[in-house]
Amino acid sequence: MPALRWNAVRMSRYLETEVLVVGAGPTGLVTALLLAESGLKVVIIDREQRPATHSYACGLHPASLELLDRLDLLDGVRAQSRRIDRVAFYSPDGTREAEVCLAPLPVKHPYVLVCPQNHLEALLAHRLAEQGCAVRWHHRLATLEPGPEGVAAAVDQLVGTATGCAVPRWHWVVGRTLQVTAKYVVGADGHYSVVRQALGIANETLGPTEHYVVYEFEPERELADELRVVLTDRTKSVLWPLPAGRCRWSFQLAGHEEADVFEKDRDPFWGEPPARAQLTRQRLEERLAAHAPWFDAGIRAVDWAVDIQFEQRLARQYGQGRCWLAGDAAHQTSPAGIQSMNLGLLEAEDLAGKLAQVLRGEASESVLSAYEHVHLAAWRQLLGAEALPAPGAAVKPWITTHRRAILSSLPASGPALALLLAQLGLASP
Ligand SMILES: Cc1cc2nc3c(=O)[nH]c(=O)nc-3n(C[C@H](O)[C@H](O)[C@H](O)COP(=O)(O)OP(=O)(O)OC[C@H]3O[C@@H](n4cnc5c(N)ncnc54)[C@H](O)[C@@H]3O)c2cc1C
Repeated sequence: MPALRWNAVRMSRYLETEVLVVGAGPTGLVTALLLAESGLKVVIIDREQRPATHSYACGLHPASLELLDRLDLLDGVRAQSRRIDRVAFYSPDGTREAEVCLAPLPVKHPYVLVCPQNHLEALLAHRLAEQGCAVRWHHRLATLEPGPEGVAAAVDQLVGTATGCAVPRWHWVVGRTLQVTAKYVVGADGHYSVVRQALGIANETLGPTEHYVVYEFEPERELADELRVVLTDRTKSVLWPLPAGRCRWSFQLAGHEEADVFEKDRDPFWGEPPARAQLTRQRLEERLAAHAPWFDAGIRAVDWAVDIQFEQRLARQYGQGRCWLAGDAAHQTSPAGIQSMNLGLLEAEDLAGKLAQVLRGEASESVLSAYEHVHLAAWRQLLGAEALPAPGAAVKPWITTHRRAILSSLPASGPALALLLAQLGLASP
C-alpha cells in the first residue's frame, strides 16, 4: 500500500523578539515568565506537544520556594504538595545513621515541598499564558547563528501526519520553518541542549553515570514526612513520600545491572499488560528486600515505573555573546537532592534579571559573565570537582565514608547547603 504522505508546505515566517527561550521545562518556563513580567518581548518554544506528565524532579528546595513565593505561585504549588522537614540517612539494615533537619535554616520557608514536576510545569505554563506569552509547543530549534547584534534562529514547527493505510502510524514532520531574530537566546533545552552544541561548548564529565529504576506506588499505610536515603558503598536508594498518599522509591543499580535510558515522556497515561505488571511488582519487592528490608508500609498499587540514567556533567561555559545556558542544559547530577532542577530555577531568575538589565541599558554585558562565574563555581563545588566536604574532628566514620553521596542528596544549595552539612559535622567544600 502506498504510504499517505504529508506534503510539508515549507513556508517561512519571520518573528522578531528580544529573547528567545529554547525549552519549556521548569528552567525555561521560569526564565520566560520573569522576562515577560519585566515587560520584555519573549518567545518560548518547545519541541514537545505539552509539559511533562509525570513527577520527575519532585522536590522544591527552600530557595525555590522563596522564588515561587516572589512569583505569587507558592499557594498553587502548596495545594498540590506534601511538606517534608527532614532528610534521614540509612544503612540497608535499617540503621538510621544520620539526619538533618530543615527547620533551623534561617530562611522564609525552611522545608521542602514535594511537588510532582508535571504540576509545577503546568502552573508555570498557565501563568505564562496569562502574561500573553504562551509556550509555542511543537516548535523545535533547528539552527542558531549568533551575530554581534543578535541571533538568527531557524525553528521548525512540527505537525502531525499519519503514514500507512490499514494501520496508520502517527509521525511529526516539519510543517514550516520560522526564522526568528532575537537579541538574546536562552538555552534551557535540557541535557542534550542543541544551544550548547551549536555554541560548541564542551560538557565535562565530573563523575560516573548513575543508573536508577524508579517506582511510584500507593503504600498500605501513611509514611513519615521525611526523605530517606539508603547508602551502600556503591549505591543510593531514595524514598520520597508523595502527595495524595503515594510514594516513590528510586534504586540506583549496581554496575552489573541493566537499565534502559529513558527520555522525559509526555504520555499522560502509564500502564502495563497484567503479566508485565506482575513482573514490575515482583522486581520492586526484590529491590526493597535488598536495599530496604525495613520498609514495612506495603505496596497497594504500582502506578509508574521507569529506568533512567543521570550523568554528572558540567558545561565548560554557561554561554557567550548573545546565547546563554541555564538548567540541565548546563549541568546534571545525581538525583536524590533534586539539585539540577532547583539550581536551574535559581539560574533562571538570575539570568532573566541580568538580561532585563542589559536590554534596558541598565548594565553592560559583563553582568552575563558574572552570571557564568557564580554558577560555574557553585556547580564545581556541588559536584565535588575541587574537594569534598571536610569532616570535623568528631564526625562519625559512616558520614566521612559517604560524604560524596551525602553532598548530592541534600535538598539545598549555597549557604543553606553549608548549614545542613554542618549539622552532620561536615564543612562545605
Ligand atoms: C523519568 C525522570 C525522572 C527524573 N527524576 C529526577 C529526580 O528524582 N531528581 C532530579 O533531580 N531530577 C530528576 N529528573 C530530571 C529533572 O526532570 C530535570 O533535572 C529537570 O527537568 C531539568 O529542568 P530543565 O528545565 O533544565 O530541563 P528539561 O526539563 O529537560 O527541559 C528542557 C526542555 O527543552 C526541550 N527541548 C530540547 N531540545 C529542544 C529543541 N531543539 N527545540 C525546542 N525545545 C527543545 C525539551 O522538550 C524539554 O521540554 C528526572 C527526569 C526524568 C525524565
